[in-house]
Amino acid sequence: MTGRSVLVAGGAGFLGSHLCDRLVERGDRVVCVDDLSTGRISNITQLLGHPEFRFVEHDVTATDLGIALAGHRFDLVMHLASPASPPEYLRRPIDTLDVGSIGTRHLLEIARTHDARFFLASTSEVYGDPLVHPQPENYWGNVNPIGERSVYDESKRFAEALTFAYHRTYGLDIRVVRIFNTYGPRMAPSDGRVVTNFVDQALHDEPLTVYGEGTQTRSFCYVDDQIDGFLALVDADLVGPVNIGNPNEFTMLELADLVIELTGSSSEVVHHPLPSDDPQLRRPDISLAETQLGWSPRVALRDGLRRTIDWLVEHEIPADAAPTESSPR
Ligand code: NAD
Ligand code: UDP
Repeated sequence: MTGRSVLVAGGAGFLGSHLCDRLVERGDRVVCVDDLSTGRISNITQLLGHPEFRFVEHDVTATDLGIALAGHRFDLVMHLASPASPPEYLRRPIDTLDVGSIGTRHLLEIARTHDARFFLASTSEVYGDPLVHPQPENYWGNVNPIGERSVYDESKRFAEALTFAYHRTYGLDIRVVRIFNTYGPRMAPSDGRVVTNFVDQALHDEPLTVYGEGTQTRSFCYVDDQIDGFLALVDADLVGPVNIGNPNEFTMLELADLVIELTGSSSEVVHHPLPSDDPQLRRPDISLAETQLGWSPRVALRDGLRRTIDWLVEHEIPADAAPTESSPR
């Protein structure tokens, strides 16, 4: 399904900008709305002159969102607007709750009035610190509702609840994806998530900051695989929620060792305190995506990290940084 008119909220962010690229590439018309709170114009400069791409700088929680988007008709509304990095959402807790609640409501209303399909970017964080491992979609999660992280977790849980309420009440055509840790080019080195922290630290020969013992696990998905999953879901006859992620699971110590190896860095590991409510294990059960969408990830962590390191060296990290195995200097 191509040639559609798509609103991408959060389209100047890491995932949103890759999504905009792919939509325009396949022949869709894209309006990207973003307040640039964690996104960057540099993520979408390649699209700015394109006849099928428009950028609107606006906050999706603002009451005049409809006015900012007046004159456009949408077949599909894709909601990716939200801080995603823990330091970012902890820095702006109320904004994070607002974008998941008020922002989601505004975008659902746009989808309803345009009779458009609505796509919600939810998260593995709805499972909290999971007591079931790996996590299937029918696991209800283990979230501390008043902990610091709840501003993100509960905001996304509320966004899912609101989206399903629109589906049941108005028959709105919805798709919900639960995204597991995704990394790749265009993540800012200052983003604060573990992959960019480790790569940035390794390239500067600084100690890699492992929080806690480093035995907690995550399962890292390369961005191209994640966007393939989005597009498979958006075109499928499946409401979701659907987990999209790479089920290969690593401890943070294993990730640190791999980053040190791939960057050829002389960095060592230092331990910092573990943030509160930090999930101890995370790994998606992707059976649903495999069977219903015919989707599975293709890029191994080692290969995806090489591409990410190369991109960061070329675009973001100063020239005095250490050489990498994949791009020796
Ligand atoms: P990101 O921070 O790079 O992108 C989020 C974008 O949303 C940014 O461009 C930001 O400026 C924009 N935004 C935030 N609040 C806004 C508002 N009120 N109005 C308009 N724009 C606003 O993060 P990302 O990694 O690209 O994440 C994109 C989406 O995917 C988020 O909803 C996030 O919760 C979800 N997600 C991402 C991951 C991941 O590993 N990358 C994992 C789970 C879920
Ligand atoms: N982490 C770490 N060092 C860092 C940043 C994060 O050890 O410099 C850990 C963090 O405590 C968590 C994991 O890495 O256990 C993934 O963190 P991230 O912020 O990337 O995403 P999360 O999955 O927690 O949302």
